[in-house]
Amino acid sequence: MPSIIAIPAFSDNYIWMIREAGHAAVVDPGDAAPVLAWLADNDVALTAILNTHHHADHVGGNRALVAATGAPVWGPAREAIPGRDHALAEGDRVAVPGIGIVLSVLDVPGHTAGHIAYVGDIGGPVLFCGDTLFAGGCGRLFEGTPAMMHASLAKLAALDPATRVYCAHEYTLANLAFASAVEPRSAALAARVAAARARRAEGMPTVPSSIADERATNPFLRAGNPTVRAAAEQHAGHALATDVDVFATVRAWKDGFRPH
Ligand code: ZN
Ligand code: FE
Repeated sequence: MPSIIAIPAFSDNYIWMIREAGHAAVVDPGDAAPVLAWLADNDVALTAILNTHHHADHVGGNRALVAATGAPVWGPAREAIPGRDHALAEGDRVAVPGIGIVLSVLDVPGHTAGHIAYVGDIGGPVLFCGDTLFAGGCGRLFEGTPAMMHASLAKLAALDPATRVYCAHEYTLANLAFASAVEPRSAALAARVAAARARRAEGMPTVPSSIADERATNPFLRAGNPTVRAAAEQHAGHALATDVDVFATVRAWKDGFRPH
């Protein structure tokens, strides 16, 4: 069975490596150098590059990796992806060369207009979601509307609760600090904060999380929850008509949030 390895990049990115024996695929290689070092150290050949969206911290290593390894590039059809060989959209499937897994594609616009995510089974259900869903948070709305992102997150929230969530950044403690401002009385959230702090104190990633964890504690998946709605309405200073309005208010609240 393939294993999934975190390759840290920049200050807080994770490049996810899916490895099976002498082959590996890489998700969102923003930087080629740590990937090439890992391949050399482990005597592994790169067989695929998979991108979720066009931001440089996710695709910046594509061209150097293609030059060094010849690995083909899969990425979202609706975005400009360096070196892309295969354009993907909702419902497409990727048989990852040399790895023996098939990943399915979901359209999840909002952070960017053409953002995609990959789902599959690697010792249980897995999700590679780039900058759409984070552990305890979600991506900023650079290109999409609140309605788009709310729908994309609802699609991810509907996955098997056991799904392991491989997001692209270690933002968890800051996200959970904000979540605690939205739902200060949540015991599930307090337990998650303690567990995440313990992981970081050991220098370990807090990622992957699970869809079950996110549904229980991530305010961006909880716009339909009465406590989250009440907090959003208090922050806005008026009643909010729809769950999308609650989501938009919580997203804007986080954009200006500074923990103290
Ligand atoms: Zn991004
Ligand atoms: Fe990013």
